[in-house]
Amino acid sequence: MAQYDYLIVGAGLFGAVFAREATDAGKRCLVIDRRAHVAGNVYCEEIEGIQVHRYGAHIFHTDDTAVWQYVQRFAEFNRYTNSPIANYHGEIYNMPFNMNTFHALWGVVTPQQAQEKIEQQRRGAAEQPRNLEEQAIRLVGTDIYEKLIRGYTEKQWGRACSELPAFIIRRLPVRFTYDNNYFNSRYQGIPIEGYTAMVERMLAGIEVRLETDFIKERETLAALAARVVYTGPIDAYFDFCFGPLEYRSLRFETEVLDTPNFQGNAVVNYTDRETPFTRIIEHKHFAFGQQEKTVVTREYSAEWTPGTEPYYPINDERNQALYERYRALAEQEAGVRFGGRLGEYRYYDMDKVIASALAAAKEELEG
Ligand code: FAD
Ligand code: UDP
Repeated sequence: MAQYDYLIVGAGLFGAVFAREATDAGKRCLVIDRRAHVAGNVYCEEIEGIQVHRYGAHIFHTDDTAVWQYVQRFAEFNRYTNSPIANYHGEIYNMPFNMNTFHALWGVVTPQQAQEKIEQQRRGAAEQPRNLEEQAIRLVGTDIYEKLIRGYTEKQWGRACSELPAFIIRRLPVRFTYDNNYFNSRYQGIPIEGYTAMVERMLAGIEVRLETDFIKERETLAALAARVVYTGPIDAYFDFCFGPLEYRSLRFETEVLDTPNFQGNAVVNYTDRETPFTRIIEHKHFAFGQQEKTVVTREYSAEWTPGTEPYYPINDERNQALYERYRALAEQEAGVRFGGRLGEYRYYDMDKVIASALAAAKEELEG
C-alpha cells in the first residue's frame, strides 16, 4: 500500500487548499514544491518589516461568499481597497476611469458632462470594435486612450493596441461616479500577516518537502502515493511533446529606500510609452505600514522564453489549441488530477483558484 493517499505537486493556493481539504477528510497527503518556499505566486517575504509580494502585487477580491468565508479561517484581512494612480508624464489621474479621472482631464463636474465629452470623442469610432484600440476609444474616447491606455498596454503586451483583442480592456471598470475602487467585487482585502502566513496555516500539520521537483524524480515520488494532484505546467508534465505553451513574463526590480513614503500609494501605473516599466509597487501601502523605510518594486513586462518564470498564459487561438491537445493527454493519465493556473493553463484570480481547488477536493473525496 502506498505511503500517502495524495502526492500534491505545488504548494501554491490550489495545492494548499486541496491538501487541507483532503487532510481534514482523513487522507494522508505529501505536498512538494520545487521552490524553496510555500505559497506559490502569492508568496510574500518580509523586508524591513514590510510584506513584499515577490511575484507581483496580489489583491484579494471576490464575489463568492463561500470563498471569502473559507479564507477567513486562515487569515484576518485588512480593509485595503485597490485604487491605482496613473502617472502620464507627471500628470496624475485616478484609476479606474471614473468621475475623478474625467474631472482631472476635462474639468467636467457632472456625469452628464463627462458622458457628453466621451460621446464627442468617440464619434466615428467603429460600432463593432475589432481590436483593443477601437474598443478603448468606444468606451472612453481618444484622450483617455492616448494618455492612459495606449502606452501602458503596448508596453505590457509588447504589441500595438490595434493588434490586441478587444476583451482585455473590458476588464477595467468605467464609472460615472466618484469611486476609485479598481474592483467591483463584494469583498476585498489583504491578509494582515501576509499571504505566506495564510498558506502556512492552510498547510498546518501537513508534510511539505521544498526544493523537490516532480519532473526530476517523477518515478520515486509518484510511487509514494495512490494519486497525484499536479499543479505545475501541463506541458512540462508531458515533456513538451507537442511543444511549449507560451506565457507573458515579468521582471521585477526591488529596492529598499531610506524614506518612509516614496509615492503615497501602493500602485502607480506609468502610462506613457517612454518609461520602460509599467508600474511601481510600494508594498507597505497594502498594509498601511508605518515603517521608517520603504520597499518599492518596478515591474517590467518581458518576453517569456522557456526556462524563465511563466506568469500570464497567452490564451490566443494557437496556444489554446495546443493546450487542448495536452488536456486530451491529461484526461488519459490514470491516477493524476491537473489543477491550478499552470495545470489548466488558465488565468485564474486567487478566489477562482480556491473555488476550483475546493470543487476538485469535493469531487475526489465524495465522488
Ligand atoms: P502557483 O501559485 O503558480 O503554484 C504552483 C506551484 O507549483 C508553484 O509554487 C511552483 O513552484 C510549483 N511547481 C511547478 N512545477 C513543479 C514541479 N515540477 N515540481 C514541484 N513543484 C512545482 N490574483 C488575484 O486574485 N488578485 C491579484 O491581484 C493577482 N495579481 C496577480 C499578479 C501577477 C503578476 C500574477 C502572475 C498573478 C496574479 N494573480 C492575482 C493570480 C494568482 O497569482 C493565482 O490565482 C494563484 O497564484 C494561482 O495559484 P496556483 O496554486 O494555481 O499556482
Ligand atoms: N490598462 C491600461 N492602463 C492602465 C491599466 C490597465 O490601459 O493604467 C489596460 C491594459 O491593457 C491591461 C488591461 O487594462 O492589460 C487590464 O488591466 P489589469 O490591471 O486588469 O491587468 P493585469 O495587470 O491584471 O493583467
